[in-house]
Amino acid sequence: MLWMRSIRHTLKPQSLGFHFCWYSSSTSSSASAAAVEAARTIQDGPRNDWTRPQIKSIYDSPILDLLFHGAQVHRHAHNFREVQQCTLLSIKTGGCSEDCSYCPQSSRYGTGVKAEKMMKKDTVIEAAKKAKEAGSTRFCMGAAWRDTVGRKTNFNQILEHVKEIREMGMEVCCTLGMLEKQQAEDLKKAGLTAYNHNLDTSREFYPNIITTRSYDERLQTLEFVRDAGINVCCGGIIGLGETDEDRVGLLHTLATLPSHPESVPINALIAVKGTPLEDQKPIEIWEMIRMIATARIVMPGAMVRLSAGRVRFSMPEQALCFLAGANSIFTGEKLLTTANNDFDADQRMFEVLGLIPKPPSLDDAESDGSEEVASSLG
Ligand code: SF4
Repeated sequence: MLWMRSIRHTLKPQSLGFHFCWYSSSTSSSASAAAVEAARTIQDGPRNDWTRPQIKSIYDSPILDLLFHGAQVHRHAHNFREVQQCTLLSIKTGGCSEDCSYCPQSSRYGTGVKAEKMMKKDTVIEAAKKAKEAGSTRFCMGAAWRDTVGRKTNFNQILEHVKEIREMGMEVCCTLGMLEKQQAEDLKKAGLTAYNHNLDTSREFYPNIITTRSYDERLQTLEFVRDAGINVCCGGIIGLGETDEDRVGLLHTLATLPSHPESVPINALIAVKGTPLEDQKPIEIWEMIRMIATARIVMPGAMVRLSAGRVRFSMPEQALCFLAGANSIFTGEKLLTTANNDFDADQRMFEVLGLIPKPPSLDDAESDGSEEVASSLG
């Protein structure tokens, strides 16, 4: 951590004359919104009072300028060489009652994904050990459920997994659907680091994608998670047929939560045959970069995770995502039920790009980075 602080200290604009001068010229009247807001974020630290038009103008900045300023903010708030490797395991696959249009695990769609029982404890723990050996520092368990209500036995078993994996020195995350207050508190007691519950898209576009649970129900789960003292992991998916305005709407909701999520996964849709979104066109890398860099500028302290869809991106394309501000990937054969990047290719990418694996953050209160960003200028 001391080392991290010294990196941040080294990157103070005041300590780098040319860097500081650069800001003076870039914030002239011709500067893009990305330049202006990135300089403000670096100067003042994270904020929660973003307006939607402000985020939209960052998002609409010329792509290379947006990329550059995402990188600037990233280097002030994080060690730019560190990328966290996470592993996501589906511990209860398929048969889900929800109707999320992108999801092959919904029982409503004929995707060939079969409903399975919850994975046995030994299998889960073995997978966590393997993930750790392969360099993962965060282990996430996913279950295809609407919620955990009425699943006491399974839920108690998951609490045991959380305890055991946490004792292995890994961050532990769960994504189990909607939670109640008590369950969030139980997960916290078991040692859960973070709970993932994505908003997926903007409030306006959301009903086109899911009808079986509301946006507000999702926000309620996030509130229970936050109140229990668990880190919030919340992001979305692009490529669902949404507009740029919807992408901005999602980022606006996240960036104006009472505290920014510590973790923001940005997923690119993998269109799965049999789902209502099977014919969606794959998104372009530039769309991903626009999302990542904007997320980085408006939520500087968050871990921005380059998540589903990475399998479609080449190493140079992924490099641009890391430059824009992404600092985490999911490794392992599968991402829940869809294919993921090859392990050896990821190792080679780390080597070629000079990336280093980010160690786990095991403090009880993982910071959202606000103090650190502010103090890096202090
Ligand atoms: S995304 Fe989650 S809640 Fe939605 S259908 Fe898939 S498993 Fe169920």
